[in-house]
This record gives sequence, C-alpha cells and structure tokens, in this order.
Amino acid sequence: MRQVSLTEDPAASEAVVIPPEQHKITIDLIDGDALFVLRKLNKAGYASYLVGGGVRDLYLGNTPKDFDICTDARPGQIRQLFPNSRTIGRRFRLVQIFFKEAKIIEVATLRSLSEHDLEGPETVLAPNNTFGTLDQDAQRRDLTINSLFYEIENQTIIDYVGGVDDLDKSLIRFVGDPNKRIRRDPVRMLRAIRHSARNNFTIDKSCWNAICEHNQMLPLCPPSRLRDELLKDLYSGVAGRWFPLAARTGLFQQLFPLYTPLLPNNTDDTSSAFDQLSSLLAVVDRTNNYFVEQGYSRPKDFFLLALLLLPWAIEKHSLLEVSIKGPDRFHLANRIRDDIDQSIGIDLNLRRSLRQDIITLLINLPFLNYHKRKGFWPKWLKKKSYFKKCSLFFYYYQEAYNSIQIPESALLARATVKSPDQTPEKQPEGKGKRGRRKYSKHKKALSDHIKK
Ligand code: ATP
Ligand code: MG
Repeated sequence: MRQVSLTEDPAASEAVVIPPEQHKITIDLIDGDALFVLRKLNKAGYASYLVGGGVRDLYLGNTPKDFDICTDARPGQIRQLFPNSRTIGRRFRLVQIFFKEAKIIEVATLRSLSEHDLEGPETVLAPNNTFGTLDQDAQRRDLTINSLFYEIENQTIIDYVGGVDDLDKSLIRFVGDPNKRIRRDPVRMLRAIRHSARNNFTIDKSCWNAICEHNQMLPLCPPSRLRDELLKDLYSGVAGRWFPLAARTGLFQQLFPLYTPLLPNNTDDTSSAFDQLSSLLAVVDRTNNYFVEQGYSRPKDFFLLALLLLPWAIEKHSLLEVSIKGPDRFHLANRIRDDIDQSIGIDLNLRRSLRQDIITLLINLPFLNYHKRKGFWPKWLKKKSYFKKCSLFFYYYQEAYNSIQIPESALLARATVKSPDQTPEKQPEGKGKRGRRKYSKHKKALSDHIKK
C-alpha cells in the first residue's frame, strides 16, 4: 500500500493506493460495457474510475448489481463522447449511457457535495459549482466501503477514507462525522443497516449510537423515498438479517409507528411481534431467493407490506380470533383500514388501491384459516377473484406461524417470468426525480425542532 497525494490541493487528504497484487479485482471481472465506457473516457484524456458498490462487491468477491463510473469529464463532455446517452438529475447532472437490452451505465462527474448535503436542514447556501476532486468525491459518499475508486490503467484501488481497511474488518462506518452525515440525509441510516445486513458486517459503535440517537429523523424524508428504500430491503433476500438491525436501532418503528407499542425499542429483548416478524421475513427471504433463482417475478409490494402488518393486525385487532360470520368482519375491515390510512398509508405514501389490497389480504386470512382447518376450501371460495392471492398469503402465514412449508405449486401458480420493467427503479443520491425534496415540506417544523 502506498500513501500518496493525488491532487495538487494541499488541504486534500492522502490516499492509500492498493496495487493489483494486494487485491482481488481484475479487469475481466468488470462488465464489458462499463469497461468500454472507462476506456473511452481515458482515451479522450479524462480520468475515469469505477466507484461505489461495484468496487465494494468486487473486492469482496461478490457480483455487483451495477457498475457506477465517475470521471473528471463534465456532463456535456461525456455526452459528446457517448451519443446514445441522456442527462438526468437536478442540481447534479448525471449521464446515463444506454446499451443493449435496456442496460444503463451511469457516469457522474466528480463532485464535492452530495445532493443530500445540499438540502438538509443544516444547509448553507449551495455553491454554484459543486464539481470536485477525487478526494472530495470520496468525502461526500455515505459509507467508507462505498467510497473506493478503482482505475483500470494501473488496476489500483484508491482509498481516501479507510474503506479497504473496513472491508477487511467487516465494518460499516459513515464517511465523516456520523451525526452530521445523518442529519444531512437521514436515509443514510437505512443504507448503513442495509449494507451491514447484506454483507454480514458489524456497524461501528459510534455509528450505531448515532443511528439510535437520530432514528426519529427518518420520517423527515419524503415518504416515497422511504417506501422505495424499505422495499429494497424487503426484496433483498436478507430481510431476516435486516429486521433485527432495523428494530434495535428503532428505525423500523419510525417506518411503522403502528409497531411502536409492540416492539420495545433499542433493546435486545424479543417481544412476540419481534418473533413473528422474524419468522415472516425468514419466509420472505426463502421465497424471494427461490423466485430469483427461478427467474420469476418478485411478489407485489402490497403482498410484502401486508405480511409486515400481519403481526400488528393479530396483536392489535385479534385478527385470527374474529368471527367469520356476521358483521364482525366488516367492522374489522373498517378498523384496520382506518389505522392503515392514518399511519403507514401517509408515512410511506401508499396509494389507495395498494392499501385496499393489503386490507383484502389481512381480513380474508381468518376466513381461509377457518376453511382450511375444516379440511378443504369450498368451490365457491376458490372462484373468488381474491382467492389466488389470499390463499398464497395464507400459505406464507402457515409457514411462518406453523412451520408448514408453502407448497411449491402455490409459489409456481403466482410466478410469472420476470420482465425488465420489474427491476425496481434505482434512486441513488443525486439521481432523483426533478424537483424532489429530500425533506418533506410539511415536516419542516419537526426538522427545525429536532435541530434545536
Ligand atoms: P447497490 O449494490 O445496492 O447498488 P450501492 O452502494 O452501489 O449499492 P447505489 O444506490 O447504487 O448503492 O449508490 C451508488 C453510490 O452512491 C454508493 O455506493 C455511495 O457511494 C453513493 N451514495 C448513494 N446514496 C448516498 C447517500 N444517501 N449519501 C451519500 N452517498 C450516497
Ligand atoms: Mg450501485
């Protein structure tokens, strides 16, 4: 390892440069199209680097989900080199280069600030020009393990933040002061527990403490951003590892305030709701991994959200004890609807039809359970439009609560071959929709209050 200063700026940090013989990343592991972009940029006289999750995953011997690239070329210069591209982003323009089969490689110009660092409650007036050096680009990233650069000419890893050391130690650390970085963008708390769960890494103590202390800042972020982040974790295949981290940091209760009375916060004690959620998420992981292996589409969002609400409905509304005849079911549906509309419906910006789908799954569960106990599902029930999804929901419940594995036929019955548009829309920082705010407007008052 070499300590070098790669910029002329005397204030810049020293980088640790890891030569090819000291790491396992080789050129042939990099996606061909990403390599094409890196080489073309270099040939045109620009510096170019693989960055972020791609470097992290290759270093660990995993297959990256995508290959992000950064360069000292400005967006206009990148576009000139790659005609089949477009520019996205509001303050930070980012170039998307299109390849065959709807593949996109994103190229960002090195910059000194993160989009989220600009709009947080501590915002100082944003400078007009936020392009930056390699060092500055490393400092604006979320976690040290996500702030590494790989360059293809010398095949070295460039590390300004101790990220390689943290990868070797299996450690999650924020870049810079955890409290400040969280206050600027509370979603970074979710990113920290996500990468801890995904890689089985420990969260550094001061970062853990900062997350526990600031968990109440999470609802300050726009509900749709929170929903998208939550769904990434539910579909990750390691939701079972993610959940204890989310519950013990208190982040889960911030996402689902309905659970606040049921899940003791920041503690290792396990409550009944904790156990039920753990069992359900183990089934979610098992089935999600099965769908991925088979190339089938993932379950719909409402299905997973209904599973997450099941322990709450059982504990708060005695869901499984309700009489299946008479007006009870109707009243139960109304009570559940009211609660969902007033809480997660707003907190996660769930559209009306999705909320209705969640309610349908929940209130039909006791009904299906009753008939299954009698030994069979009547023909008329099987003809109902909701039967297919509700019966699968019942099977998930049965595997989680009674350890009876979901019949493969039931999984196959719902499975359809994955289509490209089912890939969740990526919302990395700086790449959001035009005009999207990092903090919800109506929660500004709460934000100001917390700041004090
Ligand atoms: P994945 O494997 O899920 O793609 P990733 O780390 O590449 O993981 P992306 O969402 O693709 O995640 O983001 C790309 C990079 O952008 C990250 O590695 C990180 O360096 C940076 N980044 C993403 N979100 C933030 C954020 N909120 N604040 C600062 N940097 C961020
Ligand atoms: Mg990525």
